[in-house]
Amino acid sequence: MHLRKRILVTGGSGFLGSHLCERLLTQGHEVLCLDNFFSSARENVYHLMDNKRFELLRHDVTFPLFVEVDEIYNLACPASPIHYQHDPVQTIKTCVHGAINMLGLAKRTGARIFQASTSEVYGDPDQHPQTESYWGHVNPNGIRSCYDEGKRCAESLFFSYHRQHKLPIKVGRIFNTYGPRMHPNDGRVVSNFIMQALRGQPITIYGDGSQTRSFCYVDDLIDCMVRFMASPADFIGPMNMGNPGEFTIRQLAELVVELTNSSSSINFEPLPGDDPKQRRPDITLARTRLGWEPTITLREGLTKTIAYFDAQLTRQKSDPALQL
Ligand code: NAD
Ligand code: UDP
Ligand code: UDP
Repeated sequence: MHLRKRILVTGGSGFLGSHLCERLLTQGHEVLCLDNFFSSARENVYHLMDNKRFELLRHDVTFPLFVEVDEIYNLACPASPIHYQHDPVQTIKTCVHGAINMLGLAKRTGARIFQASTSEVYGDPDQHPQTESYWGHVNPNGIRSCYDEGKRCAESLFFSYHRQHKLPIKVGRIFNTYGPRMHPNDGRVVSNFIMQALRGQPITIYGDGSQTRSFCYVDDLIDCMVRFMASPADFIGPMNMGNPGEFTIRQLAELVVELTNSSSSINFEPLPGDDPKQRRPDITLARTRLGWEPTITLREGLTKTIAYFDAQLTRQKSDPALQL
């Protein structure tokens, strides 16, 4: 039995946040879920609302927040390129002002604080696979920079608060993660391909589809996150979190078509600017320090995710007012 803690999850109604809230409640903790609902639906946490240990707070992390907590998971930030490029200035503010406010809160309360950093800190990497010691290859002023540089600045803030104020930090670099409760319209590749395949629409591959990504199923990722938070205080990261299985985007498209039994054709569209050509985490650090590694294959994870999106589409058919 874990000691009951009061835990703040920022971005808690988002894709990863909602799964994390659920896991923490299962462990017996009190969860304060904070979100401004910029890139997620409140529906993601409706099923938790009856739990007396769960509280939902509408708040924007770019503004100060005064609450009493023992732990903070800072996940607030739009994660899909479409969402984070929609209002790039707000994305930077969320990354930077949000980090400062949450670090200020951690400093005042003495809370341990986890930062959801990203593989995007490596940019379009010229080292493969990516280890934590690699400094990255990021365009500081391209269309992805609001997110990439915002997250890099957040890492810098976390390590500065640690050095200067001895804050107990945990910085995790998350690689592409997918699963139920991804927003169906957020433009990320897994949700796009599944929705297109289920609707019988053409699958949109950007570029020639030879670029690679490594996809981690959400349950594995959440497992890694809570283990990291519980690890010894001197292990602060940065630590890669992801599944080292690497696939081309074309392979992903073919697998989704196969698993959905879809008649969709494949359309090739222009590659967006600064799109990384390859990405695969070296997870030696997580393996050795946390004894963690992913257990769910892409095929298994996609099957579960397809079932979720399929159910959403069925619900929409019976309730056309439902926005997907
Ligand atoms: P998501 O968009 O589903 O969740 C982000 C949540 O943050 C949303 O609920 C959104 O409304 C909220 N939010 C955005 N700006 C906010 C603000 N200013 N104040 C309060 N709430 C705000 O995305 P996700 O995939 O769940 O990502 C969660 C975190 O993990 C993000 O920080 C993201 O950068 C990081 N991450 C995710 C992935 C991935 O593959 N899913 C990869 C790397 C990093
Ligand atoms: N902050 C917050 N909640 C708190 C404590 C601080 O939101 O419980 C904010 C505060 O508004 C400040 C930021 O966190 O702008 C950084 O706090 P810190 O103590 O590092 O800086 P200072 O207040 O000295 O500028
Ligand atoms: N992608 C694609 N078709 C889509 C959406 C994305 O081919 O409909 C590509 C995109 O260009 C990128 C990869 O899939 O090379 C992953 O894109 P995503 O937006 O999911 O994440 P990120 O680029 O941030 O890793």
